[in-house]
Amino acid sequence: MTKHIFVTGGVVSSLGKGLNSASIGMLLESRGLKVKLQKFDPYVNVDPGTMSPYEHGEVYVTEDGAETDLDLGHYERFTNTETNRYSNFTTGSIYYSVIMKERKGEYLGKTVQVIPHITNEIIECIKKLDDPDTDVVISEIGGIVGDIENQPFLEAIRQFGQKAGRENVLYIHLTLVPYLSAAEEIKTKPTQHSVGMLRQAGIQPDIIICRTEKHLGSDVKEKLSLFCNVDKNAIIEERDVKPYLYEIPMILVEQGLDKFIIQKLRLKTNGDSISKWLSILEILKNPDKTTEIALVGKYICHQSSYESIYESLIHGGIGNNARVNVRRVESEDIEKKGVKAHLEGVKGILVPGGFGGRGVEGKVEAIRYAREKKIPFLGICLGMQCASIEFARNVCNLKGANSTEFDVNTPHPVISLLEEQRNISHKGGTMRLGAQPCILRSDTNAYNAYGKQNISERHRHRYEFNNKYKEMFMAKGMAFSGYSPDEQLVEIMEYRDHPWFVCVQFHPEFKSKPTKPHPLFKEFIKASLT
Ligand code: GLN
Repeated sequence: MTKHIFVTGGVVSSLGKGLNSASIGMLLESRGLKVKLQKFDPYVNVDPGTMSPYEHGEVYVTEDGAETDLDLGHYERFTNTETNRYSNFTTGSIYYSVIMKERKGEYLGKTVQVIPHITNEIIECIKKLDDPDTDVVISEIGGIVGDIENQPFLEAIRQFGQKAGRENVLYIHLTLVPYLSAAEEIKTKPTQHSVGMLRQAGIQPDIIICRTEKHLGSDVKEKLSLFCNVDKNAIIEERDVKPYLYEIPMILVEQGLDKFIIQKLRLKTNGDSISKWLSILEILKNPDKTTEIALVGKYICHQSSYESIYESLIHGGIGNNARVNVRRVESEDIEKKGVKAHLEGVKGILVPGGFGGRGVEGKVEAIRYAREKKIPFLGICLGMQCASIEFARNVCNLKGANSTEFDVNTPHPVISLLEEQRNISHKGGTMRLGAQPCILRSDTNAYNAYGKQNISERHRHRYEFNNKYKEMFMAKGMAFSGYSPDEQLVEIMEYRDHPWFVCVQFHPEFKSKPTKPHPLFKEFIKASLT
């Protein structure tokens, strides 16, 4: 029977529920258990695909093409689980499904209500991950206890625990234990209140993970244990681990959290192997060499907007025993102050994905700099599209070349709308999404990186390289090294007269892990080190 762990949050958001869920998943996997993870988000959007990165951070794309919360990226990076459309539900998607059922007549004769219909739907979504091969499902409840929109989720997980039996379900509450410098004291009251609210909702947490700036003395743990009614061994202290998130599992393991979970849920484990993880941490802490990569984007001030890119760069570093320092460059600043002021001295330049015209000209300038100065370059999605614009304008001499996304009347539309997108008007979930096969041409940097001809990568775009310009690009030294199987879509292009200049229409950052750096990030970092 599949066991369930529910992770809730208290006091404030952004405490790292996703990272803690992922870390717990990793620790259980290291004991030979099969784990799946999912996240419930309390907002009303059906998925985060329509939200701006400022609003929501990165949109993570699964193999099956779901646009999801960035925490799923943490799940995939920390564990071997492959997430899918059942790994992320929102209030919007739950209501959408219930309303569709109502319209079909599935509740004929009944009044459809939050309780039981919405809560039952949530329970069905939890059960979707149950299967005989899965030992543990970890479900993270977004937001914090006490939020109005959190309530149906708490009621659903309470009912779930009641039906499944307490030996099959575990509740973990992640909370903030602040230190007040004026009083020189650690304060437990916010956590007591938050656990109090959880208990009002009928949920007694089994474990409390305390985010804290200071060490929690035995007296603080005793207080929390007594007033929150939680075993003292199950009060876990978690201090900040910046800059490496991959240390979180070690903090949990040192305090016996994995043992406690295994005991409580009566899980049968098989082995204990965290040695690979420890060797990753060793490289992160004591690398042989260092490189500096410029990330030229337009949501640079928000770490979470490019979460998977930052992590993949770290992985590329791990693959080369190197530390990767990232210089974050706002592409609009390049437009204002010039490219040299921002990019001089970097060892590699990466232009990531994005939407809309703001900052595009700065990205184009950054790419020209990378091409002309022979600085290793990786262009991802919009990054590849900007590289096509740059090459068309500055090498092929096509004045005013652009993508029709930014200029519908451009005389040279080197990037244009995908054929399949022409009649689409709805914005939600309608891009070219998810895993698509790609065939690589031998004797290219792409082939050298992957070491094989058939690959599959995840996509999220509406625009595409315009094949009318292929011959001209090739004549000027651009190679098309990866195609869709029908050869209609350019998936990878690379500039030959350059040490390493590779552009991809897909998102390699969604498939990189610390234990398995993505080949393109690994090669990109390698090129930046030579
Ligand atoms: N805006 C571009 C498109 O839709 C690029 C998308 C992206 O970078 N993910 O094709």
